[in-house]
Amino acid sequence: MKNLDRRTFIKQGGILATAFAVPLSFNPFIEHKEMTEKKHFDVIIIGGSYAGLATAMALGRAVRKVLIIDSGKPCNWQTPHSHNFLTQDGKTPKEISSLAKQQVLAYNTITFFEGYAIKGLKTKNNFEIETETGVVFSTSKLVFATGVKDMMPSIGGFSECWGISVLHCPYCHGYEVKNEKTGILGNGEYGFEFSKLISNWTKDLTLFTNGASTLTIEQTSLLEQKHIKIIEKEIEALEHINGYLKQIIFKDGSKTSIKAIYTRLPFEQNCSISEQLGCELTEEGHLKVDTFQKATTNGVFACGDNVTRMRTIAIAIAMGTTTGMTVNKELVEESF
Ligand SMILES: Cc1cc2nc3c(=O)[nH]c(=O)nc-3n(C[C@H](O)[C@H](O)[C@H](O)COP(=O)(O)OP(=O)(O)OC[C@H]3O[C@@H](n4cnc5c(N)ncnc54)[C@H](O)[C@@H]3O)c2cc1C
Repeated sequence: MKNLDRRTFIKQGGILATAFAVPLSFNPFIEHKEMTEKKHFDVIIIGGSYAGLATAMALGRAVRKVLIIDSGKPCNWQTPHSHNFLTQDGKTPKEISSLAKQQVLAYNTITFFEGYAIKGLKTKNNFEIETETGVVFSTSKLVFATGVKDMMPSIGGFSECWGISVLHCPYCHGYEVKNEKTGILGNGEYGFEFSKLISNWTKDLTLFTNGASTLTIEQTSLLEQKHIKIIEKEIEALEHINGYLKQIIFKDGSKTSIKAIYTRLPFEQNCSISEQLGCELTEEGHLKVDTFQKATTNGVFACGDNVTRMRTIAIAIAMGTTTGMTVNKELVEESF
């Protein structure tokens, strides 16, 4: 079967699976499931965004039979322009990932399955991965490039502004709002450190602690010396137009105009399969990996946002490339 045909065939599996509701005797999914259940790959990569595609590129070029399973929900989808990644500066996230996907899928060693992986099982020599449509694939090695889920606070308008004018990273978006009236949403040590960092981009800076300040006396005095204001009032909502901030509305009814806010959100892993397979997490909640991206369960690897707080496309891609090279080396060592 030619690569294109094979890929189309697998993609159609996802569509056919939605026919599960029809009577069994007319359900083409059953036959499809029997066929794909036996499908074995050298490597399955769960997550086909920047980290996963980079892993696949290295492995596909190493002539490994690779399956990417991806549900198409990268964390940066809402951001209008992506920055700080060489050759792609200012492009939309989709433009970058579409070009990456096109280049990766040019290799007939790589297959892409659109779907959500829900279950993982360690068998004697392999792993089995099941998707939410019930399709099961098996693999020798498994890579998690599944990213993280940012947990939005219950502040009106916050999620609409996320990635547009409420920002996670000054290296990605700081230049575009340099010298503008900017806020930090944070408190304590983290609020202090973030304020210190962002003072490099703007002198019109306010730390919004959203409740009583937990800064030390020294931190408060240092921020005051640097003319960084501290506002402790609780925030009700963010007023915006299409995600572009206009004002912060406080619970006491007062308002202040603002152009951008930085904050670091709590997160959780996007995918629980790694934990089902016994992979350990760090205290912060990232998957624990060594310098070669090996997770704590044998045969399992992880890369991208799920293993680091340094969230940029360039780093996700670098980790993906490392992962691909490490996985291939391990396969060579096992078979040579
Ligand atoms: C709002 C925002 C703006 C950003 N702006 C920039 C920027 O301007 N420049 C920059 O360099 N970086 C930026 N970043 C950081 C950058 O987006 C991330 O570092 C990068 O997306 C990480 O890539 P990843 O492949 O690890 O994860 P993601 O891109 O988040 O992709 C994870 C993929 O895994 C899939 N997945 C998860 N679980 C499963 C499962 N069980 N089954 C199947 N698929 C699954 C998801 O659908 C998704 O496609 C931004 C981040 C955010 C949140």
